[in-house]
Amino acid sequence: MEYPEKFEQALSYAGQAFDLMKKHQVPAHPGNFAVWYTYVSGNYPDLKRAVDILISNKMEFDERVSMDLRQKFFGHESESQALHKATQRIEGMLGQMMGFLGDAVQGANSYGETLKSFSDTLTDKDKMGDIRDMLRTVMTETRSIAEANQELEVKLDSSAKEIKQLRENLDEVKRESMTDALTTIANRKLFDIVLRESAMQIMETGEPLCLAMIDIDFFKKFNDTYGHQMGDQVLKLVARTLVDSVKGQDTAARYGGEEFSVIFPKTDLKNALAAAENIRNNVANKQVTNKRTGQSLGQITLSIGVSEYSLGEPLSQFIQRADEALYLSKRSGRNRVSSETDLEHSKLELKE
Ligand code: GH3
Ligand code: MG
Ligand code: MG
Repeated sequence: MEYPEKFEQALSYAGQAFDLMKKHQVPAHPGNFAVWYTYVSGNYPDLKRAVDILISNKMEFDERVSMDLRQKFFGHESESQALHKATQRIEGMLGQMMGFLGDAVQGANSYGETLKSFSDTLTDKDKMGDIRDMLRTVMTETRSIAEANQELEVKLDSSAKEIKQLRENLDEVKRESMTDALTTIANRKLFDIVLRESAMQIMETGEPLCLAMIDIDFFKKFNDTYGHQMGDQVLKLVARTLVDSVKGQDTAARYGGEEFSVIFPKTDLKNALAAAENIRNNVANKQVTNKRTGQSLGQITLSIGVSEYSLGEPLSQFIQRADEALYLSKRSGRNRVSSETDLEHSKLELKE
C-alpha cells in the first residue's frame, strides 16, 4: 500500500480516521488504523466500498469483522514482501547483465579503433613494411573479442537460466503454500482467502454464496482397523471425489484432519444442498479396496452441513452455521446432508 499524501493531508485523514473509529467503537490499534486511514483517503476503492456496505448494513465493527477487513486488504503483506525481494534480485541480475553488455560494447569499440589504425597504415605506402605486424595484432584482437563474446554469451545464458529458475521457485512456493500436501487440493489458507474474497464479492453483486462443511464418519475406527496409511489413501480418495463432484467455480478444500469444505459461489441454498447430496452419494458409492491385497475396506460415508451467507455477517458465523448443520447430520445418524434451516426445526423439536 502506498501513501502519496503530504503532511497536512495525512494529518487530516488521520484525524478523520480516529473520529470514525471512535464513532464505530473500533479499537485504534495500528492494524485497524491502517484500514480506517485508507478508507478515509479513498485510495483503495475496494476497501472503501466494503466498509461503506458494512456501515450501511449497520454492522458492528467487532474484532471478527475488523480482522476480516485487515486480512482481506492488508493480509498479504508478508507474501508481497517476499515478492518484492525476489523482484529486487531479478532487477539486480538485469543490472549485472547490462554491465556485461557494456563491457562487450567497450571491447568492440577498442577493436574498431585497432582496425581503423590498421586501415590508416594501409593507405600509407611508406609503412607497408609494418603490415605483417599489424596483421598479427588484428588477428590477436579478433581472437580476444571472439573469446569475450563467447564469455558474454555464457554469462547471459546463465543469468537467464537463474531468472527462470527464480520465477519457477516463486510460483512453486506460492502454489505449495496454498496446497494440502497429502491430498493436493486447496488447504485451509486458500480456503480462508477464497471465502473472504467470495463474501466481499457478493457485497457488490448480491449473488448467493453457500458453504458445505464435510466430515468423514467413524474415521478413527477406520484408522484403528486398517492403519493410518490406508486412512491417508481414503483422505486422498475423498479429496479427489470432492473435486470431481463440483463445478469449476466451486472451491473444495481440506479444512483440517478428516474435515473438508466446499465454497459454492453464485449458488443458493437449494442448489448447494443438491451439490452436497451429490458429493455424499459419490463417496458412499465408491468401492474402497486395498490395492495390494484386494481386500474390501467397506463403505466410506460423509456427514455434511450447508449454510448460506447473510450479507455482512462475520465469516466465522457463516462457518459455524455449516458446522452446526454438520453436527446435526452426525446426531441424526451420519451419511447425510443437513441444511442450516434444519437447525431451527431441531431446536423446536428439542423444546417440545
Ligand atoms: P465421527 O463420525 O463422529 O466424525 O467420528 P470420527 O472417528 O471420524 O471422529 P474423531 O474426531 O473421533 O476422529 C477423527 C479421526 O481422524 C482421528 C484421526 O486419527 C483421523 N485423522 C485426522 N487426520 C488424519 C490424517 O491426516 N490421516 C489419517 N490417516 N487420519 C487422520
Ligand atoms: Mg472430525
Ligand atoms: Mg469424523
